[in-house]
Amino acid sequence: MHLERTVEHFLKKGYAVRVFETKEEARDALCAELVGESIGFGGSATLDELGLYDALSEKNRVVWHWRCPEGKTPAELRRQAAECDVYCSSANAISETGEIVNIDGTANRVAAILYGRKKVYFICGQNKIEQTLEKAIFRARNVAAPINTRRLGLDTPCAKSGRCHDCNSPQRICRALSVLWEKPTGAEMELILIREDLGY
Ligand code: SF4
Repeated sequence: MHLERTVEHFLKKGYAVRVFETKEEARDALCAELVGESIGFGGSATLDELGLYDALSEKNRVVWHWRCPEGKTPAELRRQAAECDVYCSSANAISETGEIVNIDGTANRVAAILYGRKKVYFICGQNKIEQTLEKAIFRARNVAAPINTRRLGLDTPCAKSGRCHDCNSPQRICRALSVLWEKPTGAEMELILIREDLGY
């Protein structure tokens, strides 16, 4: 994993990039600049580990289906989050060559990332960096997805073996794959890289 090379390639591909030593520093920086915004969150253990929902909720309207208030459903919150001005997500993997890879079950996260937000933040620990796009896709399928199925208690082959079998299980969580080769034209996107292992 080569963090400096990653930064260089993401800058070339049009992203803003900031590097933080710790998750607390990253969280504080985001809280200092995001005030009075509507902010949607994608499902993410990284965002959870940052404590970002509670921190940003002090001065913003934050919508996250992982924090579902009484009377709301996760499906409603996923839709509302995808309509917010700002969107925060992690990635299942990023590559040193500047690509962002995400696998999704409901596709709410990939839909919200790809178009229509005022700004998208990708918040990633250094453990998400792979050398190439191929290795990043491998990581998304064979590291992130199996851990996710275990977290959700799903009956999929990867939950048992820890690697992808390209299953046809009714509980399959891999239904959409997005690869950002470069920052989409006209979009504002920033990669927040943290020199810690975060999420999976
Ligand atoms: S396709 Fe199936 S086996 Fe592969 S990671 Fe997704 S849920 Fe697991």
